[in-house]
Amino acid sequence: MKLRTTLLFGSPGAGKGTQGAILGNIPGYLHISSGDLFRNLGAQNPLRETFIEYAGRGELVPDEPTIGLVREDIDNRIRNGNFEPETDTLLLDGIPRNLAQAQLLDDTLNVVGVLNLFCTDIDIMVERLQARALRENRLDDANLETILNRLEVHKAETRPVLDHYGDDISYTIDSTQSPVRVLRDVLEVLAKLEM
Ligand code: AMP
Repeated sequence: MKLRTTLLFGSPGAGKGTQGAILGNIPGYLHISSGDLFRNLGAQNPLRETFIEYAGRGELVPDEPTIGLVREDIDNRIRNGNFEPETDTLLLDGIPRNLAQAQLLDDTLNVVGVLNLFCTDIDIMVERLQARALRENRLDDANLETILNRLEVHKAETRPVLDHYGDDISYTIDSTQSPVRVLRDVLEVLAKLEM
């Protein structure tokens, strides 16, 4: 049985992490972030070294182990009663990140919606990323050139994934708005998808 899934997409600085954390608290929705799964790997897990190596270069971890990690987490959540495949919806955040990952997951996921948190105002996004860089000491976001490059990479990465799922289930949400207004728009889409 394929798992009912909504994908949470968003460019860096779009507020994906903020929204994901809130949405995961809604009964019937399970939020899984591949970035969080990687960051939470135990020291004894061999995949941890691979993650540190790739993430340190700002690159994606190879597809097979990434998909394996997410599948394992989903299986555990089902076994623990955390996710009920008959009735619940999976909110995937940060995965699939490219076309190959989307294709690898096609046998498992029934993707009913793709939420694309999109910052239409590049200056706002740059401002947010620079503020976060100072707050969290993230060197990757401190420099303007690096930020613009990350935004470009994101655009190139996500376009084929969005095309794979099709425009009819894609929803663009203006994330230049305040978090509350972004949340309102996201909830409107989720409610529509439930009907
Ligand atoms: P994130 O928090 O989603 O930005 O992810 C942090 C890092 O984890 C990325 O820069 C990648 O190295 C790795 N990562 C997270 N999700 C994926 C994915 N779907 N495919 C490959 N690498 C990923």
